Amino acid sequence: MILGEVASSGLARGPAVVCGCAEDTIVPRRTIDAREAPFEMERLDAAISIVERDLKRLQEIVQRDTGKHEADIFEAQVLLLHDVALREEVSTRCLSGKVNVEAAVDGAIEKLASIFARLEDAYFQERAADLRDVGKRLLDALAKGQRPAMPILPDGGILVTTELLPSVIAQLDGQTIRGLVAETGGQTAHATILARARRIPMLIHVPAAAKRIQSGDQLIVDGLAGRVFINPTPAILREYDRLEADLQAHETALKGLLDLPAVTRDGVAIKLCANIGKSADAVVAASLNAEGVGLYRTEFVFLVQDHFPSEEEQYHVYRATAERLKPREVVIRVLDTGSDKILPYFPLPREANPSLGRRGIRLLLAHPEILRAQLRAILRLSATHPVSILLPMVGGVEDVRAAKVVIESMKASLAADRQAFNPRIPVGAMIETPAAAILAARLAQEVDFFSIGTNDLVQYLLTTDRTSNDVSSYYEPLHPAMLETLASVATAAKAAGRNVSICGEMAGNPAYTALLLGLGFRSLSVSPGDLLEIKNAIRATRMQHAESFARHLLQLSTIQEIKDHLRDAKAREVNE
Ligand code: PEP
Ligand code: MG
Repeated sequence: MILGEVASSGLARGPAVVCGCAEDTIVPRRTIDAREAPFEMERLDAAISIVERDLKRLQEIVQRDTGKHEADIFEAQVLLLHDVALREEVSTRCLSGKVNVEAAVDGAIEKLASIFARLEDAYFQERAADLRDVGKRLLDALAKGQRPAMPILPDGGILVTTELLPSVIAQLDGQTIRGLVAETGGQTAHATILARARRIPMLIHVPAAAKRIQSGDQLIVDGLAGRVFINPTPAILREYDRLEADLQAHETALKGLLDLPAVTRDGVAIKLCANIGKSADAVVAASLNAEGVGLYRTEFVFLVQDHFPSEEEQYHVYRATAERLKPREVVIRVLDTGSDKILPYFPLPREANPSLGRRGIRLLLAHPEILRAQLRAILRLSATHPVSILLPMVGGVEDVRAAKVVIESMKASLAADRQAFNPRIPVGAMIETPAAAILAARLAQEVDFFSIGTNDLVQYLLTTDRTSNDVSSYYEPLHPAMLETLASVATAAKAAGRNVSICGEMAGNPAYTALLLGLGFRSLSVSPGDLLEIKNAIRATRMQHAESFARHLLQLSTIQEIKDHLRDAKAREVNE
């Protein structure tokens, strides 16, 4: 058994599929039509040129910094790259084997490398390692600008990996994946958010999982206690049969809440919305009776493409999503890329601190052509559907004003094109930087609503990278500075008469529901998978208690005191 941290709760069982998705070395395999073979060979030639250029550059650097002898290794690799036998083997596999070039390269390299490896002579054995190195470079070059490749998962498999990238999980559509186990990750990392939205149990920080677990091992992923069992004994299996039955009973009880309103015990109505990323999430959100969509993360619309989607493409995707949710409101956040959300076809300059660099609205204002196309698509949709625009990573009043100039100019261009739109489309700001939180009263004069992104707000307020393993113990939403900040944003929004919702993962944790309501929030937006659990928590809350509870917590000085108080309150509730 290996211990890990629960990122997405639930139980999963199935055979392990171990892969190193983080290293981009997974080989995409598909059958091709013979007519595609020449095109696949053209892709091989393009990849060979990239690898040759990289190897020659490496050769120069090593020769300059280390010496000619060491640099010659790369010259030898260039010769292997152009080996006629390799090319012939790849071509045969594409033409007769009818597989794509990646699968052909992988097979050809393995075949030739194992011939070398079987030879007695150490010189040839080393060439096998060089050949594999060249093969990896070729596969990397073929993958460049494309989606990271996915392993072929058997139905009901559990993916075990070093690190799960959002772009990989975004491709899990249509693949029956039961559980996820990763060696790294974060509670608010985008892969985690996606896993939660799909209700796929996921464990992170499972040490050496990809080494200790073999493909084909039978696993139980306990996404409640944070444990993975490898080839469990019958006694453990029986224990988990019982737990599964209990969980199913709990799920059935929650389903009883589907048609009930999200109101507290003393009758205060709470607006309970869903966060969505893909059209499939919209279907789940609608089926779980979400009141609307408080956050539509459009990054995933861009992430699943291999090019920037055009205005027309975006319009159709957003319209299909809004149509599924009609007549509910949908808050569409404009593209929030940069930092840990990278589009393969939009390489950004390397920055020492990417999360403090160009991202969110800053990046869009620096590339207004991307913003313009997206805004036109959203504005066109606003003619027929109740949608609003949400600006990510707002750092101050300037950002909002600059974005509004672009919004107004897109309205003017649509008017000139005689295209309909809602001239009063609401515009909101994400509050996810300390600057935006401090300036909430001033920002309220510029926008129609706020949405608090606690995932980033915790990161920036507590100067703790949300994706880092090393500082994860500092990433604490219950930090007194965080509670104080939330309270002051709620007060500023109320004073200005602006709606404020919380859309970060904090809103989806039922342990925090009473606290957030007590701090003054009346609108929450959570992963579809958390909707019923949060509705349950709202319906168990008495607003008067929640307010005095929050007032008390605001006076505490340490995370531990706040946690102890929350735990005691929970115990009192259970014993009531
Ligand atoms: C947040 O930061 O809380 C948020 C909702 O935005 P994202 O998680 O997409 O960065
Ligand atoms: Mg954010």
